[in-house]
Amino acid sequence: MDQKSKRQSGIGKTLATLNMNCREASILLANAGELKLTRPERWGLWIHLLICGTCRQFRAQIRFLSQLMAAAPKEFMEIGFAQCTRLSTQRVTQIKDLLRQATEEE
Ligand SMILES: [Zn+2]
Repeated sequence: MDQKSKRQSGIGKTLATLNMNCREASILLANAGELKLTRPERWGLWIHLLICGTCRQFRAQIRFLSQLMAAAPKEFMEIGFAQCTRLSTQRVTQIKDLLRQATEEE
């Protein structure tokens, strides 16, 4: 591969990254704390967030969850959500009924 071809493939790759879809954007958003994004990925994500309200909403939800996790008591993080929350049987039944009603209405 000559220099010109290499450069074109690099530009092509960058353009593809800038033309990011929701799936790619959500993966980057979900892993933003762990991944170090490349410059094209940061630009692509920034451009995508400018035009996509759904992904902006997803980013806001991730930020909110991160804040909740940071504020959670230490024992909560150690034993997990399932052991910390105990719903009454009556409450479980109410939630199931509401979910069933919502499904039937669609
Ligand atoms: Zn999107």
